[in-house]
Amino acid sequence: MTDRQGQRADGGRRIDVTFSPPTPNGDLHLGHLSGPVLGSDICARSQKILGHDVAFGTSTDDNQTYVVTTAERLGTDPESLIAEAYEKVTASLGLAGVEVDLFERPDERYTAFVRDFFTHLWRHGAFDRRTVELPYSAESGEYKAEAFVTGRCPTCLAHARAGVCEACGLYNLPGALLPVADTASALPRRAVPIWVLDLERHRSLLTNFYRSGDVPLRPDLARVVEQTLAGRLPYIPITYPSSWGITVDWDGEPDAPPQAVNAWPEIYVGHLYWLARARDGRTAGCDELVQFIGIDNGFYNAFVYVALKLLAAQHGLPVGLPRTRTLTNQYFMLEGRKFSTSKGDVRWAGEYLESVGRDRARFVLALSSPELQQAEFSEPIAAARLTERYDTPLAVVASRFNGTLKDRAVDAPPSAWWAAAIEASTRRFEEAYSLETFSIRKAAEALALHLEVLALRCEDVSLEDSGDVSGALLFLWTLRSLAWPVTPDLAGRITAAFGAQAAPGRPPLLADATTAPSGAFRGLDLPPHPAA
Ligand SMILES: [Zn+2]
Repeated sequence: MTDRQGQRADGGRRIDVTFSPPTPNGDLHLGHLSGPVLGSDICARSQKILGHDVAFGTSTDDNQTYVVTTAERLGTDPESLIAEAYEKVTASLGLAGVEVDLFERPDERYTAFVRDFFTHLWRHGAFDRRTVELPYSAESGEYKAEAFVTGRCPTCLAHARAGVCEACGLYNLPGALLPVADTASALPRRAVPIWVLDLERHRSLLTNFYRSGDVPLRPDLARVVEQTLAGRLPYIPITYPSSWGITVDWDGEPDAPPQAVNAWPEIYVGHLYWLARARDGRTAGCDELVQFIGIDNGFYNAFVYVALKLLAAQHGLPVGLPRTRTLTNQYFMLEGRKFSTSKGDVRWAGEYLESVGRDRARFVLALSSPELQQAEFSEPIAAARLTERYDTPLAVVASRFNGTLKDRAVDAPPSAWWAAAIEASTRRFEEAYSLETFSIRKAAEALALHLEVLALRCEDVSLEDSGDVSGALLFLWTLRSLAWPVTPDLAGRITAAFGAQAAPGRPPLLADATTAPSGAFRGLDLPPHPAA
């Protein structure tokens, strides 16, 4: 039973969380981790402590042409590259404590699902056949598109690949990149028919969607929507003449080059497939979908996914139309430079997590996440922030509590000072975790403030005043719920410090945050961090 807001009778809502499937051409780097990956994990965890029924999953993005170009550059074959990247990314997700229900590679069932989805829309006339000119290699008999073609973005002049500009997040049509000297641009162009989604033809669907929507967009995505709607809407290739990707046979001409589904629109259908799989065994469908994307996915997300979703519903495909929230992030710079996998100018997530430790990495990356604007990662600055805002206050708290509060219990109402502090901190965390104002920066900042206040105030807890002692203990204890989305290991150590058990698969509910622990304080055990 759901009411108007989709609130189920038991209080929990079904919330699906996903992040854009990573291109399997290497491990995750800190740009991925600080943006969509950590954003979605902290979101999924925060919705769990709020009592919602969360499904969280995604896959690798095997059908991107970036896989082929990287494999060529590295002198390997795409399948080996994907297999290796899948292993690395899976290991990094584990190291980072990213609690996905599912992270898989596209398989035959997936391929059939995607092919059926697009073929259904094609059969219902959603796409148009259009002739475009693409660079053509007579030697290999291949047309070059997407990652094979580079140039300058016709909108922002950044170096870009054909299809989408990672810098401004806008599309570019075949042939629209300002040419630069690369192998594909030097090739002669040849006309070839492809299938396109002509967004202008579906303009009213899109404008109605944005006019009637009440989900606020982050400013960078709002700009993409506004800029795009202001002009003639583009047509977006749904297929390319390519054998890489999910092939479709819509032309019925034996001599026509094979067409494969463009990997960017495919992502929307992938979300449908993987999130349904992530919900296997539970009630199907969701009340709300939260997707975390880099701004480079902004245009596809705001226009192509939305058009496909609305067209699918219109043409009778069994897609849900949940309230959908897209949380974008900007670029994370590595000491002033853009992370570049291809130039090897990159800090890998797995290596960083191993050297810094899970909680500390999660904390400092959340604190500096490029949520609303470009942010910069500098290893010395990150280390200094960790010392000042995490390690030092925690060490003070452990030393003071372990030295003077061992075997004391929460056996009285907290003093007025602590009651006010608990209420204020809880409010800060709640604001960070609410989907309307969700922010991992705010969550990490709330945690830093909580630790700072605890470290300062615990120095002068009056041991004779049971309200003061109980307040201090309770303020620490609330972190087992409040901090669980950001620093799950710390939350576990706080649970253990009071002799309580963390129930596997049962997140500590926010509603229980201020329910006093049943046991006395036994001592907070902090690990020596790897960097020490
Ligand atoms: Zn651009």
